Parts: sequence; structure tokens; C-alpha cells
Amino acid sequence: MSLPLAANEVENRLYINGQFVPSSDGETFTVKSPYSHEAVATVYEATEDDTNRAVAAAKAAFPAWSALDPHERGAYLSKLATLVRDSHTELATLDALCMGRPVSSYFDAHYSANIYDHYAQAGFDAKGQTSLNTKGHMNFTLRQPIGVVGAIIPWNVPVMLFAHKVAPALAAGCTIVLKSSEKAPLSSLKLASLIHAVGFPPGTVNVLSGFGNPSGSVLSSHMDVRLINFTGSVATGRQVSAAAARSNLKKVILELGGKSPALIFEDADIEQASTETVMSMRLLSGQACIANSRIYVQESVAPAFLAAFRAKFEDVKCGDPLDPATTQGPQADGIQFERINHYIALGNEATGKTGAGAKQQQPSSTTNSHGNGNGKTSGFFIPPTIFTSVPETAPSMRDEIFGPVVHINTFATEAEAVQKANDTEFGLYASVYTRDMDRAMRVARALESGTVGINCTSPTMVGDMPFGGYKGSEIGREGFGYSLDNYLETKSVLLRVRDE
Ligand code: NAD
Repeated sequence: MSLPLAANEVENRLYINGQFVPSSDGETFTVKSPYSHEAVATVYEATEDDTNRAVAAAKAAFPAWSALDPHERGAYLSKLATLVRDSHTELATLDALCMGRPVSSYFDAHYSANIYDHYAQAGFDAKGQTSLNTKGHMNFTLRQPIGVVGAIIPWNVPVMLFAHKVAPALAAGCTIVLKSSEKAPLSSLKLASLIHAVGFPPGTVNVLSGFGNPSGSVLSSHMDVRLINFTGSVATGRQVSAAAARSNLKKVILELGGKSPALIFEDADIEQASTETVMSMRLLSGQACIANSRIYVQESVAPAFLAAFRAKFEDVKCGDPLDPATTQGPQADGIQFERINHYIALGNEATGKTGAGAKQQQPSSTTNSHGNGNGKTSGFFIPPTIFTSVPETAPSMRDEIFGPVVHINTFATEAEAVQKANDTEFGLYASVYTRDMDRAMRVARALESGTVGINCTSPTMVGDMPFGGYKGSEIGREGFGYSLDNYLETKSVLLRVRDE
């Protein structure tokens, strides 16, 4: 794989106060391809000082931006939507280079453009209530932007999460400082250049590349940041939440992990259920918070489902993420690779057998046995791995693995299926496959999950619905609907009206 963009075509500086600037101390970090291990880009790393300057710029920009009418703010977002849609190929390329996302599965730019378009209109929804319920008063509420927002995103779907954070914040009248992941900073820098091209007022959106420390922790504990919106792992979410509590008790929105179940009942369309659960697990090489990584199948159809699932899951073309024929890319980096292999070893131990495809993979191997004729590669590839009959208490069953590793267990009754599905600290996504619509609705009501797919699974969640989770998966909702509320304060105004 060779870098398809000339080095000077890739923006590598920080975007602060409407300008691209190097970091204050000139420090950089190198982003490497998880496919070739070659350097993709050298990127400036935000220091504490840079992060403080970005927050100061956002604070200075807030009064003028929040004073604009919704249609004026919306006009900027509409223009951004068009530029993001037009940048599909470049954004797909940058994410493929940084974290191995196959370009064949890239829909993020179009999804994000729809989010910007949606929020271009949504500012008009920031309306309060009135009340005549107090004698001698006509009371009302004002919905006002909360102020400077800090946003921290992970590497797996950076373009989508950039939109989830930036679009509603700007529509509400807030200004924002967003820190991208050190593993995939290039698409966020490209988005910063689109924001620059649109001509947003300086300081309205600031984009930093860098690590959790210092930049992420400075943002979460900054006294001028009024809301921190974080997507990432549970462990980091706890740190962000603690930093917010220790500083100015800023509002916290957390979008964390998942261990999303799919329940397959005996009357389900097995062909459809197996195809779609495989799609869910294949998306991002299993590195998706909404992947159906626990599948529960009713006993009578378990052999048929397992055979159909295995045939499709293992029919994969590993290879260069830039090759449109590739269906599974490498895992995002060596840390991910080691972590997944660790859980595969635990799965082997818990089940007393080797999960199909669950061999320890060496990143230095020259030929990938699952490359299906794709030739030589040295990427961080993990073959599709299936564990069956896994004890419910096994670590690989309980923790989010974030790789192409699926657990398939069985159930006898509806009550058992729901109990097993809900027996987790996560609650992001769940699917139920059945032709019995009464059962489908009962199960949907009983599942402790922010989104439930009935006869469909996670890749189809790109509708106009809010996105979020129950329990340890989430605090708040994003995507369409509800999200604007995150960025608005509610002020009650008590107005005395004298009698004549
Ligand atoms: P991560 O928690 O390691 O990192 C996320 C971000 O936090 C990065 O930008 C990182 O630099 C930053 N960070 C690290 N330490 C920090 C600190 N002390 N203070 C502030 N920021 C800090 O997560 P990851 O590996 O990048 O992403 C994978 C995780 O993201 C998975 O758990 C996945 O489920 C989750 N995720 C959730 C959703 C969702 O919508 N619920 C979507 C995508 C990914």
C-alpha cells in the first residue's frame, strides 16, 4: 500500500481560532498504517497550552455565534453538509490509512452530511414553555446555549462522531473544541479544513489532534468548558467524568461501549438473521460499539443458525483497506491486536476448545491464512472467531472485546433469552429475530437497550432515530432528536402581571 496523498495534501496542524497552526512546542506524533506499518503522517500534538488557547478562542467566539439566528447558523451547517458529502472518497481514504477501515464499507461521510443537514434546521426547535398556572403570573422558560463545549472522540468512526458532537452544539449556539483520537486524526483535520472553507467565524469550531494526556484531560477539567461530550471506552469515560466532577461540575455526556446481544427465535428467518448478524460483526472488523457480539439462538434452530453464520462469517477477504474488494481490514493498531488475542486466549480457556479461527496471529507473519488469495500482508489481522457454549460469566462474554470475535449460546424460552441478553453492564444495542410480532414487541419492551432492532441489526441504525444506551453504555443521547437538549440550559422566567 502506498500513500495515495502527497504529504503536503494532508493537513497536520491544529485548528485554533480559525487558523491552522503548529503545536506550541513543535512536538509531533506519527500515525502508522495498521496494514503496512508504514508511517502515514506526522501530526502536531496539542499541548496543554494549545488546548487552553482553543478553549479561550471558543469562549471569545461564543457571544457572537450564540446571538445569530438559527437560520444563520444553519446556513453554515448546510454548506458543511455539502462539502462533507463531496469529500466521501478522501475521508474514506484517510480513515483506511489510519485505522484500517475498508473503503468498501464506508458510509460515514453521507451519514454525517445528513446529520449536518438535519441540524441546519434544528436550531428552530430550541423553544421553551409558557405557564399560566400561577395566579398573577405569566411564566415562561428560555432555552439558551450552555456555552463552550469540549468533545473527545475515538478512532473507530471519527467522521460520524465528529458530526454527532459538532452539528447539534453549533445549531444550539454553542462553540466547540474537539479533540480527535491519536490513532485517527487525519479525517478530523480534513473536516477542520472543510469548516475553514465554509468560513465559520474564527473560534466557533477548534480541532485538536493529540492524546488523552495532556489535551483530553485538560479539556475535561477546564473551568471554561461547560459541557464535555465524550465517546470512547468505559475506563476513559470514568476518568473524564471524574475530571468534570473535580473541576467545575460541567455537564457530562458519555457514549461508551457495548456487548450487544441478538436473540434468534426458532421461527426467525435464519438466512436473514445469519446474514445480518454477520454484517454487524464484520462492520469495522468487529470494532463497532453496536456489533452483535453475543448471539443467543433458540435450541431447536441452533445447529442451522451456526452453520449458516459460520459459512458467511468466515467467507471474508482480508486485505488492503484501500482495495474495494477487501471486506475485512486489519485491527486498528497493535494495542487492539494484542487485546483481542488476549480475549481469544481467555475464550479458549473458558470453553475448553479453540474458537473457530481463534489462532494467535502474529503481526509479522508474511502470509495471512485468511486472506483468501489476497496475497502477502503483515497487517494486524485477526480472523473471524466464533465461540460456542460459553459460560455466561467468562470474561470474553462480559467485556467488550472490540474485534471479530462472536459468542453464540443457546436458550430454551423467551424469558431465558431476555434474562441472558440483559445480564450485562452494557445496554447499547440489541436485536430480536422472530416472525411472531407479539413476541417481538414484548422482547423489545423488556430489553435494557438504547436501540432495539426487530428483524434487523446494527448497520441499519442509520435512520432518523436518537442513538444512545442504557446502564454503563451511555449518559445522554446523540444522533437525530434529543441531542439538541444536551447543549441547552433551561431558564425559568417568572413574570408578575398586575391586575387592572
Ligand atoms: P479510548 O477511551 O481509549 O479513547 C477515546 C478518546 O479519549 C481518545 O481521543 C483518547 O485520546 C481520549 N482519552 C484517553 N485518555 C483520556 C483522558 N484521561 N482524558 C480525556 N480523554 C482521554 O477509546 P478508543 O479505543 O479510542 O475507542 C474505542 C471505544 O469507543 C470502545 O469502547 C467503543 O465501544 C467506544 N465507542 C462508543 C460509541 C458509542 O456511540 N457508544 C461509538 C464509537 C466507539
